[in-house]
Amino acid sequence: MSNTASTVANPSSIDLDTLNGLFESQTPLKVIEWAVAEFGDELVMTSSFGDQAAVLLHMASRAKPDIKVIFVDTGYLFPETHHFMETLRRRLNLNIWAYRTRHEPIAWLRENGESDPTWRANVSACCAANKNEPMERGMRDLAPKAWLRGIRRGQSESRKNAKFIEWSPRYGCYAVSPLLTLASRDIWLYAKEHDLPQHPLVEKGYLSIGCNPTSCTQPVQIGEDARAGRWKGTGKLECGINSLDSAGL
Ligand code: SF4
Repeated sequence: MSNTASTVANPSSIDLDTLNGLFESQTPLKVIEWAVAEFGDELVMTSSFGDQAAVLLHMASRAKPDIKVIFVDTGYLFPETHHFMETLRRRLNLNIWAYRTRHEPIAWLRENGESDPTWRANVSACCAANKNEPMERGMRDLAPKAWLRGIRRGQSESRKNAKFIEWSPRYGCYAVSPLLTLASRDIWLYAKEHDLPQHPLVEKGYLSIGCNPTSCTQPVQIGEDARAGRWKGTGKLECGINSLDSAGL
């Protein structure tokens, strides 16, 4: 983690247990509309502009057309992801706030003993410097009261117990996760119904798309979880930006 993260106690009287119970039977759009009504301009969202990004971006921009979209640019993203971002920016008229790594990507590799640009030996150090630091900077800069994110329970073990709204002491705001109960097929059907564009790497077997070193993103084989291609063989499941507290980063 970056050592700039602060820890903030939940200041609000929002009844999380009651809301989370109610949201279990609501559509994602209803959850988003509640968040827009509750937090207004102090609601932001994050997007990786990965394989399933178009769905939450479409829903959120319908409910709040000017919502600020935080995009973390690690310096190691696929060119296709930048292209996909521009496609969606034009299509949905998105208000994107890009937070880039402070490091020059090639120099960072050299200075940190990473001799192969297609493979990261120390993913924790790289994620801390190039992914978590820009994310924390963006959240400090925009200081939202709540943040929409696109995680789903079915994506991985690390997400199966997530709730619709949770307090994040790390970011000092609420994390709202409207898509939690959707299956991959629901995402696909929504994208089809609304004629949303698809990330160009999906047709090549990438079902969860992060950074481009092979250590960090690989195509998924038949029968594997969608996120099985992320940091394959390392046991790592998350880059850390979705961690609500700073423990373990
Ligand atoms: S996902 Fe890989 S390349 Fe991207 S920041 Fe983390 S370790 Fe670095």
